[in-house]
Amino acid sequence: FFGNIEIGHDISSAELREHYHGVIYATGGSQSRPLDLPGADSGNIFGSSNFVGWYNGHPDQMDLAPALDGRTAVIIGIGNVALDIARLLVLPQDQLKRTDIADHALQALAHSGIEEVRLLARRGPVQAAFTPKELEQLMAIPGLQLLVDPADLELDEISARQLEQPEFAEARHNLSLLREIAARPQAEGKRIRFMFYTSPSRFAAVDGRVSAVQAQRTELVRNAAGQLEARAVADSLEIPAALVVHAIGYQGSAIDGLPFDQRRGVIGNAGGRVEADDQQHDYVAGWIKRGASGVIGSNRQCASESVQRMLEDFGSSLPSLAGDGIDALLAERQLEIVSLADWRLLDQHEQARGRIEGRTRRKLVKVDEMLAVIREARAREEAQ
Ligand code: NAP
Repeated sequence: FFGNIEIGHDISSAELREHYHGVIYATGGSQSRPLDLPGADSGNIFGSSNFVGWYNGHPDQMDLAPALDGRTAVIIGIGNVALDIARLLVLPQDQLKRTDIADHALQALAHSGIEEVRLLARRGPVQAAFTPKELEQLMAIPGLQLLVDPADLELDEISARQLEQPEFAEARHNLSLLREIAARPQAEGKRIRFMFYTSPSRFAAVDGRVSAVQAQRTELVRNAAGQLEARAVADSLEIPAALVVHAIGYQGSAIDGLPFDQRRGVIGNAGGRVEADDQQHDYVAGWIKRGASGVIGSNRQCASESVQRMLEDFGSSLPSLAGDGIDALLAERQLEIVSLADWRLLDQHEQARGRIEGRTRRKLVKVDEMLAVIREARAREEAQ
């Protein structure tokens, strides 16, 4: 385990190749897919990777400072990430406090004025990308109102037929949960409103900050590839929005020296083996291999395929490697490497900070502070 090392910055993919028989890149999809609409560069509009990074304490996002003073937030997209963000925006403080959310986000949310979160889905409930478990988690939040227009749950003929197919079991479950939600009596309190068949077209802003989402009602049509896509059918509707987060999927980042498929946001590969001219033993697994889809189980299967491919390529004999090993190279560069034991020291420190306040942990969000804690803890251990 070598922490605090960035491939392409501290060490190159070519150098890794010299020191290992095989390299597996499992670098994920760390960036939001861009939402290319007029006004999307207005203030207080964020991509899900930035927003989720902000509340999870990612060092690069600690200064994001979303304004939470308005009453209505709009989330574009209706996958599990959209549901995660919606939940966070409405979760009561006493529940939030128990999590490992970053301190700056906990404080900001304590003063949030957001009363309603609107989830914009360009297609219908049968096509929603979230999974039933995540919807059930929202349904279980005490005092939270979930709102669905019952008219949106009346299915068109194609969706109704789709729903009968075995692979639509989760969609059937989602639909029955949404029907249960639609039948619930309404009450006061914070709410999440599901807006199906609603596609954003542009953003309005006041003094540079988003004020509304212009959207169009849609219907489903089958495209040339046989998929159901949303087609705008009605005039624009205006949805007030003091905060907008688009959660329309993730994409990976390119790594120096490896072929990158810009369109799909993945490293070009065949079944996990990186596509290159020579006999390089580079592999990929997870979202950087197949795009941002699936849950943990799908990534496990995906990794097994890549490892299998690597073992087949190796055969029975391995060439000897040149050089003095990666440790010598990294030491030569005077990089501050974080070992697994170091990471554990940081982990213990964060957990101990949390315990004092009855939380699972309190995260550090600045890299230099993390390194200082590790250095101090190491010094203490050595002195004992
Ligand atoms: P996702 O599941 O791919 O959902 C993306 C959503 O954005 C879809 O509703 C999609 O609608 C919509 N969308 C895409 N482009 C759009 C556009 N231009 N305009 C309007 N809407 C647009 O992505 P995600 O929510 O980021 O999640 C990524 C992966 O992580 C998923 O596999 C998810 O299940 C997983 N995840 C799992 C958990 C969990 O297990 N608890 C938690 C978080 C994430 P269309 O269907 O119409 O394209």
